Amino acid sequence: MNYYQILGVPENATAEDIKRAYRKLARKYHPDINRENEEHFKLITEAYRTLIDPQKRKIYDRELKNRDSFKEYIEGLLKAILEKKRKNSKDIKLTLQLSLEEAFSGGKKDIRFKREDVCPNCKGTGIYEKSSLRRCSVCGGKGYRIKLGLKIPCVSCESKGFKINNPCPKCGGYGTVKKDIRKTIEIPAGIDEGDILVLKGGGSRYKENEDYGDLLIKVKLKKHRVFVKKGLNLYLTLKVPREEIYPGKIFSFKDLSGEIITIKIPENIDNSTLLKVKGRGFRNREGKFGNLFIRILPK
Ligand SMILES: [Zn+2]
Ligand SMILES: [Zn+2]
Repeated sequence: MNYYQILGVPENATAEDIKRAYRKLARKYHPDINRENEEHFKLITEAYRTLIDPQKRKIYDRELKNRDSFKEYIEGLLKAILEKKRKNSKDIKLTLQLSLEEAFSGGKKDIRFKREDVCPNCKGTGIYEKSSLRRCSVCGGKGYRIKLGLKIPCVSCESKGFKINNPCPKCGGYGTVKKDIRKTIEIPAGIDEGDILVLKGGGSRYKENEDYGDLLIKVKLKKHRVFVKKGLNLYLTLKVPREEIYPGKIFSFKDLSGEIITIKIPENIDNSTLLKVKGRGFRNREGKFGNLFIRILPK
């Protein structure tokens, strides 16, 4: 909040505008009307006294300008730091879509992803045989700048103090390159939605002699054609011709593992009856099985 905002006038306001604005506000916030407005009244008076005096206003305007450009500078710097942090995070996160069958039985799965690795052409320096260095013109080679008495890292050269002429063409001077990786991973049986598989050393690295980060694979289960999964239980709706729904009639179908399940229609069945097949639902990674519930509806 600056004095112009306090008085509600633009920064190019005339002395007349300022006077008018002040009078209006002073009437409204006068402590004689309401004692609680005393602080506010003091503030608008302070703003008015500064802006109505040409000399004081000039100094204040200069200060304001410095303040704004400093703010812009800090914001730019923070953005650069965040960008760098994002680039430097070595762990890679992936989402892996699995069918219910794949999650139920586990097994091998091929995955593809990109990871950042040290550029083999320049060994991560960005400099190769045709490169040369030049002093950073923004910071004069110091790697930092002085702003309002503060030592601030140079964003232009990332504090290095120099820039590269003819940087390594393979990585553009960044020192790292993106690589396509194919891997076969082992999916444990009973893996579930939201589970995370960690592949140690499957992530990125930005320097030689540095360990790779990890690859974190988050599992998402695809919607199944016939089974609906709720926790460890599975639900199945069988639609059959009406004349086949009678006590003693036998139906068979395959479960997630491909095994045949046979059920027999009991007495007194209706559209809300759930037939339970114990232990033939989904399973967790510890080998505990849920149940399968079947609803039989006429087609
Ligand atoms: Zn390179
Ligand atoms: Zn610099």
